[in-house]
Amino acid sequence: FASMSAHKIIIAIDGYSSCGKSTLAKELARKLEYNYIDSGAMYRAITLYFLRNQVDQADHGKVLDAIANINLSFVFNAQDQRSYIHLNDEDVEPYIRDMIVSEKVSEVAAIREVRSFAVAQQKRMGRKKGIVMDGRDIGTTVFPDAELKIFMTADPEVRVMRRFKEMHADNPHITIDEV
Ligand code: C5P
Repeated sequence: FASMSAHKIIIAIDGYSSCGKSTLAKELARKLEYNYIDSGAMYRAITLYFLRNQVDQADHGKVLDAIANINLSFVFNAQDQRSYIHLNDEDVEPYIRDMIVSEKVSEVAAIREVRSFAVAQQKRMGRKKGIVMDGRDIGTTVFPDAELKIFMTADPEVRVMRRFKEMHADNPHITIDEV
């Protein structure tokens, strides 16, 4: 840990869903005093913009216009030592995990122009090193040359329980079978 603090590197964490990628990423960032970049939050904020502005995903020109109007940044809050995603200078953290965003995000994240926009921003955020980033394509597409790459997996039972606990908070009727 001491040497990673002195010579800052990029730590890329890929893996399947609900394996604890962001839990590990946040803890590493805290210990190393690195920035934690939640790439999923970026796709969620873009999706929120698309929903709010009723962007027609099938219209290439409209998608490009929308992207040109999106500015994403992570703002560090000294009080709770966490970074919050801002969309055009608005803290959108309270909205990006809403069901309506969760249902739409994989569709928006699949749009080619959206991916190249997000990946370019992520690469820019890594220029100064000293970051931990997690997401499915971080070690392959975003930082193929990261000094440390971690791929996480876990037993299906463990992944289901993690997701169940998360979802149960919002929906007490959900069952393990449904998850
Ligand atoms: O990690 P999280 O659940 O917040 O990610 C939200 C969604 O964003 C994922 O389900 C996926 O569709 C998309 N995503 C992606 N590439 C990443 C991170 C997230 O396509 N690097």
